[in-house]
Amino acid sequence: MSGIETPSGAAVVIGCMDRRLVGTLRLFENDADSPMTLAQKLGNLSNLYKVHDRNYEELRRLITETHGKKVIILSNAGANVRGLEATLKGISKTDGISRIILLPHNMCGGMSLVAKGLYEHATEESDAFFGHLHGSLYSAALTSGAELKDVQEKAERLNPDIQREAAGKFSKSVDVVFVDLNKINLNEEGIEHYAIVALPGRYAVNFNGTPRDQTYGIFGLTGDTKIDVKIAGDALGIHHFIDLTVKGGPRKKLKS
Ligand SMILES: [Zn+2]
Repeated sequence: MSGIETPSGAAVVIGCMDRRLVGTLRLFENDADSPMTLAQKLGNLSNLYKVHDRNYEELRRLITETHGKKVIILSNAGANVRGLEATLKGISKTDGISRIILLPHNMCGGMSLVAKGLYEHATEESDAFFGHLHGSLYSAALTSGAELKDVQEKAERLNPDIQREAAGKFSKSVDVVFVDLNKINLNEEGIEHYAIVALPGRYAVNFNGTPRDQTYGIFGLTGDTKIDVKIAGDALGIHHFIDLTVKGGPRKKLKS
């Protein structure tokens, strides 16, 4: 699966902003303020995943390979690489990109939105994905008799390959692990959902004080993530936003 890894530069991990992926994404971070040993990371991974199958093993390998190296974690609706182009170009210039690790998943709100947009009519949100969707997805949506759930399933199935292709523009080394949410232990207590909006940087630290399993993480340059903030608010119905993109300022709520 792995391409040729160029030695210098940061490993960029791109996940969906979905709260159910936050626990996994945090295990990739090597933060100076709260360093986790590799054994701790792998222990946490093991506790997080109910099923230790091939994808779990892939995650274990990738966490091991990136441990102790510079890692930048980005997340948006659907692990959408094209939506992070300005952010990735910026990282290419400042740090360089040694490899890209993509973590799309099933039961994805972002993919539902894409499917709904294709099925019904194009919306501003779904347009953000349209440009890099393969023709086959369009035709699935346009096939007479196709149901919304068919289009949605197809969108989820095609997404890993679509993102892999888009990531290939930024790195020769691209790994994709499709996360099955049925295989993750989640604390479903607490009905409030939050979203942290932050610039690329200290991923885990920025979740301090917000319940991990209830918090969506939107990480990227502000211009890139504007659409994801809109999706979180309008399509996923999140009311509590914590905006950390205001430099030097306190946590500020965009909406409540
Ligand atoms: Zn998702």
